[in-house]
Amino acid sequence: MVQMHRLSVAIDGPAGAGKSSVARMLAAQLGYIYLDTGAMYRAITYEALRKGLSEKDPKAVSEMAEHMNMKVAEGAQGMEIFLDGNNVTPFLRTEEVSRHVSPVSAIPRVREILVAVQRKLSEGGGVVLDGRDIGTVVLPGADVKVFLTASAEERAKRRFRELKGTPEERPFSSICDNIRRRDAIDAGRAVSPLRAAADAVLIDNSSMTLEETAEAIAVLCRRVQEA
Ligand code: C5P
Repeated sequence: MVQMHRLSVAIDGPAGAGKSSVARMLAAQLGYIYLDTGAMYRAITYEALRKGLSEKDPKAVSEMAEHMNMKVAEGAQGMEIFLDGNNVTPFLRTEEVSRHVSPVSAIPRVREILVAVQRKLSEGGGVVLDGRDIGTVVLPGADVKVFLTASAEERAKRRFRELKGTPEERPFSSICDNIRRRDAIDAGRAVSPLRAAADAVLIDNSSMTLEETAEAIAVLCRRVQEA
């Protein structure tokens, strides 16, 4: 059998476009590692909140990030994050973390630290990364780059359905506001703003299922491998 080149796949896009579900499906299908970079920014945010640090004090948050002992591992539910040996994954999607994560991720030193970790974990390929700056900053040489988007309304609906019946359930309007607010901060920040790489394939999946979206990206991967 011909050994297939193990690709690096970058999936960027705004909050709620289904990036993590699609990236997880694709990685499982290809037998690749899935890296949820948003969860890494969330872990720093969680730790800063736990220590009572504010994003208004970037120096303190940066220092904390420099000394953090973060490990990622493949768990039953996807990627898991450990801080000082404790699995913090269940605490990363709370409303409080969601509210603070964009300003924390706008701190340049926080980005430098995480980008270095993400590049290290991607060495050798066979990875699917999802985030905001993967195709532009983290892996500008990625084999496949996708910018995944959907209307803000549709993205809020998906998040609403995802959280319904969980302790994190919230009114639709609050989810919609959070998504629009995060879009604005992520797209407007000075360092690594959210934007599609010039060579990314744009996919608007407002009227596609997550399975269809994963399949569309799998087709792009096969094309690259066959080229
Ligand atoms: O992907 P998720 O919605 O979990 O990401 C949470 C936040 O982390 C984003 O709103 C963004 O502020 C930040 N982020 C980032 N760069 C990435 C991934 C996430 O700035 N590569």
